[in-house]
Amino acid sequence: MNQESLFQEEQLEACAARRVLVPYPIDKAYDYAVPADMSVNEGDYVCVPLGGREVAGVVWSSSAPSELRRDKGAIKIKSVIHKYDMRGMPEVHRDFIAWVAKYTCAPLGSVLKMALSAPAGLEPPKAVVGYRLLVDGHSQYTPKQQAVIDIMADGQIRRAAEIAELAGVSAGVVKGLVDKGVLDLVDIFNPSPCKNPDPYREGPELSDAQSVTADILSDQIRDRVHQVSLLDGVTGAGKTEVYFEAVAEALKKGKQVLLLLPEIALSNAFLERFRVRFGCNPALWHSHLTAAQRRVTWRGVAEGHSRVVVGARSALFLPYVDLGLIVVDEEHDGAYKQEDGVRYHARDMAVVRGHLGGFPVVLVSATPSLETIQNVWDGKYVHLHLSARFGGAQMPEVSAIDLREDKPEKGDFIAPSLRTEMIETLARGEQVLLFLNRRGYAPLTLCRSCGHRMECPRCTAWLVEHKGYNGHDHLNCHHCGFTVSMPKQCPSCSDVASLVPCGPGVERIEEEVRRGFPDARVMVLASDTAENNDQLRLMLESIRRGEVDIIIGTQIVAKGHHFPELTLVGVVDADLGLQGGELRGSERVYQLLHQVAGRAGRAQKTGRVMLQSFMPDHRIMQALVDESRDDFLQVEAEERKAAHMPPFFRLAGIIVQGRDERMALEVAKALGRCAPQGERIQTLGPAPAPMARLRGQYRFRLLLRADKQVNIQKVVLDWIAGIKVPSAVRVIIDIDPQSFM
Ligand code: ADP
Ligand code: ZN
Repeated sequence: MNQESLFQEEQLEACAARRVLVPYPIDKAYDYAVPADMSVNEGDYVCVPLGGREVAGVVWSSSAPSELRRDKGAIKIKSVIHKYDMRGMPEVHRDFIAWVAKYTCAPLGSVLKMALSAPAGLEPPKAVVGYRLLVDGHSQYTPKQQAVIDIMADGQIRRAAEIAELAGVSAGVVKGLVDKGVLDLVDIFNPSPCKNPDPYREGPELSDAQSVTADILSDQIRDRVHQVSLLDGVTGAGKTEVYFEAVAEALKKGKQVLLLLPEIALSNAFLERFRVRFGCNPALWHSHLTAAQRRVTWRGVAEGHSRVVVGARSALFLPYVDLGLIVVDEEHDGAYKQEDGVRYHARDMAVVRGHLGGFPVVLVSATPSLETIQNVWDGKYVHLHLSARFGGAQMPEVSAIDLREDKPEKGDFIAPSLRTEMIETLARGEQVLLFLNRRGYAPLTLCRSCGHRMECPRCTAWLVEHKGYNGHDHLNCHHCGFTVSMPKQCPSCSDVASLVPCGPGVERIEEEVRRGFPDARVMVLASDTAENNDQLRLMLESIRRGEVDIIIGTQIVAKGHHFPELTLVGVVDADLGLQGGELRGSERVYQLLHQVAGRAGRAQKTGRVMLQSFMPDHRIMQALVDESRDDFLQVEAEERKAAHMPPFFRLAGIIVQGRDERMALEVAKALGRCAPQGERIQTLGPAPAPMARLRGQYRFRLLLRADKQVNIQKVVLDWIAGIKVPSAVRVIIDIDPQSFM
């Protein structure tokens, strides 16, 4: 079968050929002959020979006989090996894959690879052996056997390991009961997750504002219209309850639903709410799943059995057979942009998926992105606004601390006024969160004698000091993971004990807090302080139970968590992220600070938020203090428009990288020489990237900016096609770049 066959023209008529797309970085589907006894349609998952291997692919289209490979008049192609026994990929999803490939300038096969992300799911599910109670009470049993029988008396089917654990016996006892004819063997198939969510369960009684909003979404679903809505409202406004109503409506219509979340693994509380509302777990999709979980979930979705998927951005590419609603929660979150491989923005592609599928898409945020709010202002998106916190909970009171006046003690980072407020909050038995979005002890280590800065040998980045256990300090690169012990002397001038930490990370704030509040229970929460998600969950739980007085955390605490006793949030460095001059710098800082502020006082108690800043008059601080988000966004929009930047103009980033600096620079310069320039397109660069070295690769950047009418993908592809790129250099295209590093 694996060999190439020669077909005469008439034979091919009879057996037909198909184009099969395989999940490799190629743009073209290959022709394969379909054996006469096989029926293969577009969208079917098939196994085909490719370069001596057997690979899974998708039938993309019928082949055009005139274009088939020929050898002396006869057609010479390989045959499909077999077809997988499952539903094919719907046309709309194949269209989606093609659309994404075209938009992101990625090879079609690379996008398909994201859809075929669990190839093991193509194989029919394997059964595992389970046991069921057949008879009981007929003869004498040992206490161990009796324990098993007691467990199994409920009639359920269980695996041996499960029974052994529940009954506290060895698996041998279970097997022994099979021999006695007491237990019977049965096959268990791992069921598709979220097969029967119950949309008819009673949700909470919605407020008037919530009902109005939920009805609008339900109408969209019922009418099967593609409409994008922004569900807008502060944290705690009740947005989740509203979109759960929309989910229920889509389920009632028999549709599949996708809920995208930025940091899925953390939202235990969210899953609990889902279970309460729909009576089962959603199907989960994120990077921490086991291979077995991926396999059953992928297949469950592809067969249409799994009805609701809650997932990170990659969940968008699962091959849904009948998708009827996508909700993108925290739509402004930067994590929706994939920064390697196929560089796509999951929020934007979700809108495209909804458009192709003819169903509504709901974007949810308390701090919408400028892109989204501009679409609202332009009348393209429906604006659904919940204006107050549910149940009348108060918004926290935000104030700025002027660090120029209200100075921390020398060597400290907490201003006296924040300190006073902390003392009072703790005295009332309430919790304090000190927020600083910086892991480790100090972001920079400097030699006092010669001014040498400790830098990563592989990246353009300072090494970050981390305090290890029992005094083993080390320096760590947050970009590539490079680690060294803290040197005893300066590597440059050899002076001893001259290296000093500059600036704070969370560990250094912890030191100050422990000094100043020796009786307080302190917890540091950063992505590297919890060993895994389970531990992180336990830490969050213990905060919720009030076992911690002062939390010092990075953005990991900013998202979605609800701590009833937390009433004071101190932002240690509200200016962080404003200096770099990045396009979305202000927007990002605003979103993050707003989100952190939302942690304060969500229950009965009113919260306070204090922003430590050297620029207390900055419009971000003012927007937070005055709760004037839309004014802030409007100014931001005007600046972007004046600067010819998104969302009013389009950008494409070009990154040229390689281990050989000279070679990479040559390619970058060659691109620069023939860069598109004109009235509607301008190209900047090449210039060394801000992160000029990353993991030992030298990086140069160009930035192309164009009017919205320009087909920027075509311009970029034509441009790059004209340049010779040696294999040691990579040219990366980033359409709608989020990062400019
Ligand atoms: P958001 O998603 O806007 O942050 P949530 O939907 O999480 O807001 O609601 C905030 C809190 O209010 C949650 O604890 C939620 O359970 C509660 N809540 C929201 N709507 C209702 C309702 N209609 N009835 C009862 N509780 C509600
Ligand atoms: Zn590094």
